[in-house]
Amino acid sequence: MKISKRFANVGDSSTLKITSLAKNMKSKNIDVAILAAGEPDFDTPDDIKKKAIEAIKEGFTGYTPVRGTNELLELVCEKFKIDNNIEYKPENIIVSTGAKQSIYNILQALCDEDTEVILLAPYWVSYIEMVKMTGATPVVVDTSLDDFRINIERIKGSINKRTRMIIINSPNNPTGIVYTEKELRELSDLIVENNIYCISDEIYEKIIYTPNKHYSIASFNERIKDLTFTVNGLSKTYAMTGWRIGYVGGEKKLIEKALMVQTHSTSCTSSISQKAAVAALKLDNNIVIRMTDEFKKRREFLMKKIERIDGLKYVSPQGAFYLFVDFRNFLGKKFKTSEDICTKLLEDYKVAVIPGGAFGAEGFVRISYAASMHEIEKGIDRIEKFLKENI
Ligand code: PMP
Ligand code: GLU
Repeated sequence: MKISKRFANVGDSSTLKITSLAKNMKSKNIDVAILAAGEPDFDTPDDIKKKAIEAIKEGFTGYTPVRGTNELLELVCEKFKIDNNIEYKPENIIVSTGAKQSIYNILQALCDEDTEVILLAPYWVSYIEMVKMTGATPVVVDTSLDDFRINIERIKGSINKRTRMIIINSPNNPTGIVYTEKELRELSDLIVENNIYCISDEIYEKIIYTPNKHYSIASFNERIKDLTFTVNGLSKTYAMTGWRIGYVGGEKKLIEKALMVQTHSTSCTSSISQKAAVAALKLDNNIVIRMTDEFKKRREFLMKKIERIDGLKYVSPQGAFYLFVDFRNFLGKKFKTSEDICTKLLEDYKVAVIPGGAFGAEGFVRISYAASMHEIEKGIDRIEKFLKENI
């Protein structure tokens, strides 16, 4: 078997793999509690669905411009201005097949074999594999040493002349940490001083719990704006994971290069989804607030449940819909890694959660609360039973 060197050590996505294993078990009538996927359990709001059906009926079913329809690009610019205080024009934007592709386009366009990309662990599973796919070297800065927050000195220490980029993600998957304005301003200065690029993945922007506030690093000044690619998407905010709409804003000439990656790989994303995206971006904000309120209730319920279990600690989430739980007290001869724990949980206790190792944080387990209260309760009771019987 001959495999490209760049792909030889690219791993699977634990989040997608475990979720699909669990969904498969469910389809065979096995009663699994699925607390794995970063996927809202709500249905896509009706107004959005209606627009997609209209698009099909009207025959809006051909290719669109690769970067997206003008109507959608204009709305994305408006969104960036209103929500994030960033001025972009349609020429600064690309709409892609999910935020995942937005990130991939940028990495492919800007990274080479002799470059390094800084990741802050715990990081979302796909960043590290995408960096490897470009041939660049991921350099991991461990934020668990600093309560999962930004430590400028530590990041500074990992920058050298090969550093091309840093990827940040706030609200964070898997910890739920939201960076403060001060942290982001300090990071912005460091990025500008060193003239490196930044991908700011803001996909959980609207899923945030008071008093925390979301800041976009690109909004601070023109220098950081030109170096930053602000990524967002509709999957989480509007319960639209399967529609595959993400987007990125950035400096025009660099965006032009990223557009070539998309042009020669996938072209435009689905025309029908783009019509739906227009409806989503025009949606009454109260619908989004209602969904976030529901996540908030589940978050509190889950935290209380975990607090009652001896030996478990967690990172208090300020945003997103994950609880990152520290299982290090339970590692030893029987379970050497969090993956061993998650495998046992899935196979014998029928609860699907994601091992922290996949996020670069061994010993932790990510529990998603983008699931119904009933599912959460069932899952945690099973985890408790597992700990009683095995540890
Ligand atoms: N970034 C983060 C942090 C995520 O958790 C996800 C998961 N879906 C994505 C990007 C990609 O989302 P999508 O491709 O569905 O827009
Ligand atoms: N991002 C989500 C997660 O972390 C969905 C799956 C994926 O694309 O990784 O679970």
